[in-house]
Amino acid sequence: MDRKSLKLPFREGSHPEWTCPSCMKGFLRIRKDTFFKEEIRSSRHHSYDEWEPEWIEYVYSCLLLCTNDQCKEIVACSGVGSVEQDYGEDEDGQPVQEYEDFFRPKYFEPPLQILSLPEACPQSIAIPMKESFRLFFSSPSAASNCVRSAVEELLTELKVRRFDLKQGKRRFISLHARIALVPAKYEDLRDLILAIKWLGNAGSHGTVGEKVSPWMM
Ligand SMILES: [Zn+2]
Repeated sequence: MDRKSLKLPFREGSHPEWTCPSCMKGFLRIRKDTFFKEEIRSSRHHSYDEWEPEWIEYVYSCLLLCTNDQCKEIVACSGVGSVEQDYGEDEDGQPVQEYEDFFRPKYFEPPLQILSLPEACPQSIAIPMKESFRLFFSSPSAASNCVRSAVEELLTELKVRRFDLKQGKRRFISLHARIALVPAKYEDLRDLILAIKWLGNAGSHGTVGEKVSPWMM
């Protein structure tokens, strides 16, 4: 899946190629007559003198249908929208100012499969990863936290210990310290895991804003 395109706003008539989360073969298309948009209350100030179309804020909902005839999965999608200025051309090639509606998805149910997980992926890792897919659009920071949990579980699967004993007491080992304990045979993975952890930190602490997500790599 082209993950960069997922983050781009879309027009009602042309949206990204959202891969069906059930068959992973078909694409999702907006089902006819299911797309609804309305302006939210704070957007309804059209009588103000200074009003401009860019003030408009929408919410939208729609149903998506998988193009694969063997699947025909239905996915619910909702999100937000706005109006942006664009420049087109009239019949004589003269520039004309146009306004267009753009939408950004916040939720898909069932969630899009943002990354394909190997079949052999242990459930302890797959469950937080799937939760991160659910949160990917609505809360990148919460999605980052789920990926961090998945990394902790991955380290456990790689037999990296989670606790140590200090003066007879069991104590959690920090994620950073655990990564340093990755066995030598998985050494090539160490830098990669460290990079995921770094991006996860940035995402969950908001240090680089909501734009950060582990899928930017
Ligand atoms: Zn499908």
